[in-house]
Amino acid sequence: MKGETHFIIGMAVTTTLVTANVIVPSIFLFASAAAGSYLPDIDHGNGKINVSLGLTKVSYLALAILVLYYKVNSETIIIALVLLAVGFSHHRGITHSFLALVSLFCITDNLPGSIQAGLVVGYATHLLSDFCTDQGIELLYPWGKNFRAPLTITTGKWGERLVAGCCSVIAICNILLMTPEFRELLPVEWLDFTSNIKGIF
Ligand SMILES: [Zn+2]
Repeated sequence: MKGETHFIIGMAVTTTLVTANVIVPSIFLFASAAAGSYLPDIDHGNGKINVSLGLTKVSYLALAILVLYYKVNSETIIIALVLLAVGFSHHRGITHSFLALVSLFCITDNLPGSIQAGLVVGYATHLLSDFCTDQGIELLYPWGKNFRAPLTITTGKWGERLVAGCCSVIAICNILLMTPEFRELLPVEWLDFTSNIKGIF
């Protein structure tokens, strides 16, 4: 699935969670959700983050050595291990697994809640999206079995464009619902209805 589609899906889910009052909106939440939605593809040379920052597999290995050269403690060892895992991984392997998602949650535990929530939500939506493509993902890495949804879409084909289009509409509607000026234009009965829907969550 393309990076842009991951971004759009990440924004659709994040804005839905915000309008459902599950998480509190902030610029940090949306920025980290965007980063999280691109993050799993750092195992691919053409991943958005790698292309933007000019990073390659060798860069991650070099960074791991640099981190340990700078200081050796429990934190730098964890960072170096993550960098080594990315450097040696194959596409849709460890970075597209539950192991990576849980590790991300643990590693970001000391960060502000909005940043942790954004990264984890963005990352999870990426895994779910790739799970729904015909290439699948190694969800239970290090078990090498490839998992995919019973019904899948093909990257770059009409199915992906349809998903991106629907998620764009969802994200835009949610953003409008977050805007007080727009909410004032809506009928009271409709707002009551959306409040009841939110109550379910
Ligand atoms: Zn991916």
